Amino acid sequence: MKTDVRREKELEIKRTILIVDDEEINGDILSSFLEDDFYILRAFNGKECLEILEKEDKVIDMVLLDIYMPVMDGYEVLRERQTNAALKRIPFIVMTSEAVIEKECFHLGVNDFIKKPFDNPDIIVARINRMIELYEDRSIIKEVKRDKLTKLYSMEFFKKYCAQFNQRHPRIKKDFLAINVTRFHLINELYGHDYADEILKDIASSIKAFVRENEGIAARNDGDNFYIYCHHKDDYSGFFNDIIEHVRGLTHANIVHIRVGIHPNVEPDMDIDIVIGRAMVAALAVKEDVNRIFAVYDEESEQKNRFNESLINSFDASLQNKDFKVYFQPKYKIQGEKNVLGSAEALVRWVHPQYGMVSPGVFVPLFEKNGLIQRLDKYVFNEVAEKMAEWKEKFGFYFPVSVNVSRVDIYNTNLEEDILEAFDSRHIPHEYCYIEITESAYSTGEDTIIKLCASLKEKGFLVEIDDFGTGYSTLNSLLDIPFDVLKIDMSFIRKLDQNPKNATIIQMIINICKEIGAVSVAEGVETQRQYEFLKEAGCDVIQGYYFSKPLPESEFTELLKKELAK
Ligand code: C2E
Ligand code: CA
Ligand code: CA
Repeated sequence: MKTDVRREKELEIKRTILIVDDEEINGDILSSFLEDDFYILRAFNGKECLEILEKEDKVIDMVLLDIYMPVMDGYEVLRERQTNAALKRIPFIVMTSEAVIEKECFHLGVNDFIKKPFDNPDIIVARINRMIELYEDRSIIKEVKRDKLTKLYSMEFFKKYCAQFNQRHPRIKKDFLAINVTRFHLINELYGHDYADEILKDIASSIKAFVRENEGIAARNDGDNFYIYCHHKDDYSGFFNDIIEHVRGLTHANIVHIRVGIHPNVEPDMDIDIVIGRAMVAALAVKEDVNRIFAVYDEESEQKNRFNESLINSFDASLQNKDFKVYFQPKYKIQGEKNVLGSAEALVRWVHPQYGMVSPGVFVPLFEKNGLIQRLDKYVFNEVAEKMAEWKEKFGFYFPVSVNVSRVDIYNTNLEEDILEAFDSRHIPHEYCYIEITESAYSTGEDTIIKLCASLKEKGFLVEIDDFGTGYSTLNSLLDIPFDVLKIDMSFIRKLDQNPKNATIIQMIINICKEIGAVSVAEGVETQRQYEFLKEAGCDVIQGYYFSKPLPESEFTELLKKELAK
C-alpha cells in the first residue's frame, strides 16, 4: 500500500532535471532511472550546461553535474554558479567516482553527491527528491513558481513551461484545456473562503493526477480557472468524470459545476495567450447546462464569428456609402405561348469594401438577430421606390416590384410607416408595390401579422406569402391572413424530379390559389422540365434562373427596354 507521502508525491507535477555528462551512456542510464518521475534535459559539457541554464533557469529544478568534461569542466560551472544568484537557487548534485573531489566540490557549494557507477536507482531518486524539496522549501522562487493553495504552477511560469513542453515533446500532438468553476463567487459568498478553497484543492488534485498520467503541465489562474497543456487525447471523459466524482464528495456538491474548453492539436509555434483565449472561448460556450461539461474550440466557427462581427461593425459605413446594391430578378407571367415580364423581386447584395460581394444568405440572418435588418429593409424600400420612379420617368409606366420584409420586421412598429414613406414620397401607387413576407413569420406572431397584412392590403399594397410550405402555418390559419399571392417554396421545385409527391404538393397549392382567387408564384425554377411542369399545372408566375438570375439595376433597366420593344 502506498503511504500518504508517496501518494502526495505522485500527485505532484513533474520537475525538470538537467543532466550534464560528456559520456552519453552515463546520461542514458540516469535518464532511464529518472524519466518516470522527472522531465530530463541533457547537456554534454559545462558550456552547454550554462547556456541551457541561462535560457531556462526558472524551469530547471536540479542539475546533475559531471566534473571531468571537455570544453568546460564541472569545476568551472560551479565557480560560475557562485557568482550568479539565479543559479544559486538551483540545487546541484555532482556525479563522481572519486571521493577526493568531494571536498573541493563542497567548497564550491555543491549540495550532494551521487556515486558512479549508478547502481541503486531508488536511492538516487530519493536523494534527488529530498534535495529538490529542501531547496523548494527554503526558496523564495517557490512562492512565485507555484500557486500557494493548489501547488499547481503560477501563470507566469506555466506559460514558460508550455514553450518548454513543446521543445521536449516536439513530435507529439498536444491539447490545451481551460477548466472553469462556474459561479465560483457564489460559492465563496455562500459558504465562505475556506470551503471554496477546499473545492479548488480538490479539483487541483484531480488535475495533478491527470497530468502525471497523461504527460502534461497545469496551472491555476484568477481564482477559479485552471489550465492544462498535455499530450493529445481523443476522449477526456474519464478525467472529467474523475473531477465530478471528487466534487460529488463535497457537502454542497450541487452548486459546484465545472466547464471545460478544449483547444485540440495546438500548433507549437502559436502564441500561448491566444491558445488560452481560445480555450476560454470554448469553455464559455458550455452553457449552464448540468449535462454538458466541455466544448471543443472550433477554428472554423470562431472565424465565422469574427467575420460576422466585422460585418456588423462595417454596417453603418456601408449603408452610408451605399455599398448595399439592390438587384432585380424578373418574374414572368405564364400566359399561353407568350410569357410576359410582369414584375421583379428586389434582392439586396452587399458589395463589401473588404470582402467583395456578400450574399444576403450570409448577412440577412445575422442582421435579423441584432435588429439591423430594419434599417437595411428601410434602405431597400427607398432604393426600390427610387428606381420605380426613375423607370416611370424613362418608360412612362410603373413597373411592379416586390420587396422582402424580414420576419423580425413584423414586430417593428415603424414598418408600415417606413414602407409608406419610401413609396409615397416618390408618388408610387401602392398597387405596384408587392410586399413579400416569409411564411415562417406567420407562425410566430399570428395576431400581429394578420393586422399588418390587413392594413397593408387596405392601403392597396399586394401581400405575398413567401417560401410557402416551409413554415408551420396550417391551411386553416391561411384563411385568416389576408394575402394576394402565394410563393411556393423553391425546395418543392428543386425536388420535383426526385420525389413525385412534390409534384402533388405543388399542384395542390396551385389549385388552392385558384380556389381562393390568389396568384400562384413558383420561384427557383431552373430547368425546362420544371418550367413545363409548372406551366402544365397552371402556375401563374414563374421566377428563376430558367429565365434570369437577379440582375444589377442597369442590366435590369436594359431588359425592361428590350421587353418594351417586343
Ligand atoms: P428569398 O426571398 O426566398 O429570395 C429568393 C432567393 O432565391 C434569392 O436568393 C434568389 O437569388 C434565389 N434564386 C432565384 N432564382 C433561383 C434559382 O433558379 N435557383 C436558385 N438556386 N436560387 C434562385 P438571395 O438573393 O441570395 O436571397 C436570399 C434570401 O435573403 C432571400 O430569400 C430573402 O429571404 C433574403 N433577402 C434578400 N434580399 C432581402 C432584403 O432586401 N430584405 C430582407 N429582409 N431579406 C432579403
Ligand atoms: Ca422573397
Ligand atoms: Ca422565397
